[in-house]
Amino acid sequence: MIREKQHPAPDTPLIVLLKLAGEQCNINCTYCFERRKPYEGSARFDGDLTEKALKTFAGHPVRVILHGGEPLLVGKRRMAEILRSIYASEVDVRGVGIQTNGLLLDPEWIGLFDEYFPELDWGLSFDGPGQANSNRRDHSDRETHDGAVRALKILADHGKRPGVISVINSAHVDVSPVEFFEPFHRVRDVISGLSLVPCFDFTVKPRIWNSQSGARILQMMSVNGPEWAVSPEFYSQYVVSVMREWIARGDWRHYSLEPVVNVVGNITGNSRIARSTTFGFADENHVVTVYPNGRMGPHDRIENGQVGVMDLSPDPSSIDRLLENTRTTHAAEWKDLLERCNGCSYWEFCRGGELHERREMRKSDREDEYCASRMEIIDAVRSEIE
Ligand code: SF4
Repeated sequence: MIREKQHPAPDTPLIVLLKLAGEQCNINCTYCFERRKPYEGSARFDGDLTEKALKTFAGHPVRVILHGGEPLLVGKRRMAEILRSIYASEVDVRGVGIQTNGLLLDPEWIGLFDEYFPELDWGLSFDGPGQANSNRRDHSDRETHDGAVRALKILADHGKRPGVISVINSAHVDVSPVEFFEPFHRVRDVISGLSLVPCFDFTVKPRIWNSQSGARILQMMSVNGPEWAVSPEFYSQYVVSVMREWIARGDWRHYSLEPVVNVVGNITGNSRIARSTTFGFADENHVVTVYPNGRMGPHDRIENGQVGVMDLSPDPSSIDRLLENTRTTHAAEWKDLLERCNGCSYWEFCRGGELHERREMRKSDREDEYCASRMEIIDAVRSEIE
């Protein structure tokens, strides 16, 4: 049977990523894809740009995510303008979220967000205890672990339940899945989810920054490619081991674990829209990224070396053109990539992955490894629930 990617219903809200501070960040993670993009000069969102950006989406329901770089770098005054613009927008905003490293967070920030969006969906980037977080360093090459833990505490003290995104990368090789799991277990009533995202950066070329952490990133570029990547096999074994802890210790009652919950959804036929997991009903064509240079483009992970492909415009046809172009280009690319999925018995549980991962696997000649790792995760989830 010929496989095709499934898409969410047309009235599903578009996910709009506002890159508030572009690629600027107070830390310099080795694997950051945003900081590899060819930004020219620095720019930041303000209230006017936010208003202009949202007008582009007239006629579409949207879910807005404040993103970066590090979105809190815009500062409180500008953030207040940005939040006011979203709040006052006539566009059908169905929800607002933020993805932050949390290092700048303080109670005043929480008060500011609460003023406009008390239900804000908090996303915290944190790779886990000690060494596991060691590829998330600041520009002076200092660890950021304690700052992330502090942010988690501030959020908990204010009754927020952030979802945590952990990028599973080479720093996890020396941290067992049980050690990794432990701190999340301790805050299981505080977090709403833990998403394990693979770092499959086999062929990427970093943009080198003139800083101590930039020098470290350069050092980590070996002849075999970036040393911070992990193999699909390592990733699947890690996910499966963490999942076993999550089940055995009852954490599944407290917070979701990705990609596990999405695989469960695929197996039980209870799929839902997801953005950050490759097993979910993720649809890159349903994500639009807006940059502080006034340009917009497709999903932030899949742009080919660009910072937006067209200018923001109040002409309602501009967003439709962007979506149509994206759909057409990706459909052609997927047609080629999905040939290997034709006849695969894991298809309905796997869904073929995400475009940026499939591209990377093909470029690095690891497609067999990739499929084997997806099958391992699916088999492990099935054996737990069937
Ligand atoms: S396991 Fe591989 S071949 Fe099978 S559906 Fe998934 S991506 Fe396609």
